[in-house]
Amino acid sequence: MALYQEQSLKMYNSMTGEKEVFKPINEGTVGMYVCGPTVYSNVHLGNCRTFISFDLVFRYLKHLGYKVRYVRNITDAGHLENDADSGEDRIAKKARLEQIEPMEVVQRYTIDFHNILQKFNNLPPSIEPTATGHILEQIEIIKTIIEKGFAYEVNGSVYFDVKKFNETNHYGKLSGRDIDNMIANTRELAAQSDKKNPQDFALWKKAEPQHIMRWPSPWSDGFPGWHLECTVMSTKYLGEEFDIHGGGMDLKFPHHECEIAQGEAATGKNPVHYWLHANMLTLNGKKMAKSTGNNILPEEIFSGNNDVLDKPFSPNVTRFFMLQANYRSILDFSDEALKASEKGFNRLMDAYHAIDELPVSDKSSVDIKSWKQSCYDAMNDDFNSPILIAKLFDAVKMINNIKEEAATITSEDKDELQKTMSAFMFDVLGLLDKVSENNDTSDKLSSTIELLIKLRAEARNNKDFALSDQIRDQLQEMGIQLKDGKEGTTFTIKPA
Ligand code: AMP
Ligand code: ZN
Repeated sequence: MALYQEQSLKMYNSMTGEKEVFKPINEGTVGMYVCGPTVYSNVHLGNCRTFISFDLVFRYLKHLGYKVRYVRNITDAGHLENDADSGEDRIAKKARLEQIEPMEVVQRYTIDFHNILQKFNNLPPSIEPTATGHILEQIEIIKTIIEKGFAYEVNGSVYFDVKKFNETNHYGKLSGRDIDNMIANTRELAAQSDKKNPQDFALWKKAEPQHIMRWPSPWSDGFPGWHLECTVMSTKYLGEEFDIHGGGMDLKFPHHECEIAQGEAATGKNPVHYWLHANMLTLNGKKMAKSTGNNILPEEIFSGNNDVLDKPFSPNVTRFFMLQANYRSILDFSDEALKASEKGFNRLMDAYHAIDELPVSDKSSVDIKSWKQSCYDAMNDDFNSPILIAKLFDAVKMINNIKEEAATITSEDKDELQKTMSAFMFDVLGLLDKVSENNDTSDKLSSTIELLIKLRAEARNNKDFALSDQIRDQLQEMGIQLKDGKEGTTFTIKPA
């Protein structure tokens, strides 16, 4: 029997506002789509939080034995500066400023995104499609939406007719907006707009002469509207109706509302069964965002190179910090919170490594079976990772009690404890075992260089300049530069 048949997973569906028992369309398989990044700059820690939240969902579904197809897109065209349909394309703008090809921008920041998520130990999605790779499919769906009467063409651009759609469907049902009211209360159209109503959104935009990212279509040389790619790529790979759609809370409106409208207009079917929205990471109480500059980059945390930090933190500890909050709660970033997480993380890992050495008895005074189920109960309750972590700390207490002979455990229970902790810590939460962590290696490298610096100083004191120069020159050849200063010798390592 698969684990998912024994456990009853509930998830909070933003569409209904309730925690619902999860029932996939096809037993044993799950289709999950998550909105990916717009690759025009380095991902900040806020972006990472959303992708870590959905990595937790992906990991737990897999752990339960589901065969999961996880699709996460790369937005490489069509996302304009303003989430409404105006401004320059974000990628084209960056390309213009840096005087490079838009696809060079896309390549650079896609690689950055993958590198960072790998450092956080996120699993790659099953399919990672791009908007530019699906222009033909986007043109086809626009034709269908026009045929069904829910879109209109003006001057080479095509807009979705929200008012018309709302006569038979409910635009605004996900975000709780009353569009009829909004339309009735909007007197004027935005200046120079081709739209019938300001609520209408672009499916296709005619490119201005200076717009470099353009494709031919029946309506004009232009580019697709931002919302369309997700409708096309989710349904292409997961079907017209699929199980889970995720994204950051800030995408609920207009992005996800528009996705629902496009899907329903094209197929007459409600595309998504469970809508999951991850909450924001804040800094100084405000949302981390690229546009405001109120953000911190993951590399700044790993190097400690930011004024808000006293010291560096590893990707592992940073991930643990994020998982200590529920994915639906706002989480505020701070140096103190990370320090506390680091302490907790070390305590958890040390306890896990102590299991091997625990003495065994004929009888257990601890109840491993019910503790194990309490770990599942936490995750079954809408992926409640902070409660799961609290349960793991209950196990830390148990381990310490057994070590101090204040409790006993049988050999079978000890195996079960170790297996369960490993499954939840490494497979579900996606933490890495401390001994295999990057920072551990770099700590060792730093200590080794410090040792060589000391030996070089000794050689100099002994006037053995041949040896001291040899140490300096050979380190230099390896890309490690020593610098002698008033405070002693420091070193820098040239990045590989
Ligand atoms: P973008 O590249 O701007 O489209 O954003 C990629 C993802 O990051 C989206 O799912 C956003 O909802 C999410 N995101 C942006 N800012 C934050 C934040 N401060 N906290 C959590 N997620 C965020
Ligand atoms: Zn999307």
